[in-house]
Amino acid sequence: EQLSNQIAAGEVIERPSSVVKELVENAIDAGSTQIDILIEEAGLKKIQVSDNGDGIHPDEVMLAFERHATSKIYTTQDLFRIHSLGFRGEALPSIASVSKLTLETATTDLPGKHVYIEGGTLVEERIHGARKGTTVTVESLFYNTPARLKYIRTVQTELASISDIVNRLALSHPQIAFRLINEGNQMLRTSGNGDLKQAIAGVYGTDAARKMLTLASEDLDFKVSGFVSKPELTRASRNYMTFVLNGRYIRNYNLQKAIVEGFGSRLMIGRFPIAVIIIETDPLLLDVNVHPSKKEIRISKESELSALIIRAIQAALKEVVSI
Ligand code: ADP
Ligand code: MG
Repeated sequence: EQLSNQIAAGEVIERPSSVVKELVENAIDAGSTQIDILIEEAGLKKIQVSDNGDGIHPDEVMLAFERHATSKIYTTQDLFRIHSLGFRGEALPSIASVSKLTLETATTDLPGKHVYIEGGTLVEERIHGARKGTTVTVESLFYNTPARLKYIRTVQTELASISDIVNRLALSHPQIAFRLINEGNQMLRTSGNGDLKQAIAGVYGTDAARKMLTLASEDLDFKVSGFVSKPELTRASRNYMTFVLNGRYIRNYNLQKAIVEGFGSRLMIGRFPIAVIIIETDPLLLDVNVHPSKKEIRISKESELSALIIRAIQAALKEVVSI
């Protein structure tokens, strides 16, 4: 059982940023409006995610650490019809099997719970008086899987990966106030007031938010909104382009290419805009057979969507010229 959890962990939990992603997605699923993330030594020493969500019922806390015990039972086909980001019930048991994990949780009306699990073994479980919400603290990640630890790259690389994931989660959930603190320094803060422009300000700075063009375009199958930066504000990396498809961020190389094509000659080679593109569509147009944790989702009519994005960007750029 422990071994199978560790094997599963190898698939779900590749590196510290995978832990951050899974814990933050759980906090989002719990209906939180405030999520705080604390990092030490790029997550290898400590990752703490605190939320003010629904909490876990005291009788169900240990169940959450059993594999395939998800409170969110859906078929894979339902994945894009539903709001919830989690569905496999693998993350918590996987993380707990390769770390020293503390979970404190409380619902509104019941006494809260505190559990401490070391390498997948329950060490302590007690009643805990806490405010509504959940705090998960993961320490000494991969301490009992040295092979995995060795595979971890530099602190800089891991930190960049954590920051990238939190950025994208914050951008895809502007109604949640996010805070990312690394070694005591605030790396990100969003207001959570629901305004995407303000979320962009929290993630990329107020100056960047001021240099955004508004996108608005739709056809029979897709609705595209969001922002792209003016040609004067570009980056030397593709990582500043985020796509949010029906409420969750996705990676999609063809859609990145569409952004670049929309800018045409206004973009120097190797430069990319900052962009947050919100796409809404009928879930029936999405194929979720691709591994969901990888965020690679097949979109039928993808070339139609690309064309729509190109048109939206070209229309937005026209406004710049006429001003
Ligand atoms: P999944 O998210 O796929 O259901 P997880 O292993 O990530 O599986 O979590 C297991 C269960 O623990 C969830 O279904 C949920 O009921 C509960 N849970 C985990 N984290 C939280 C949280 N932050 N707030 C409330 N419930 C949580
Ligand atoms: Mg989950």
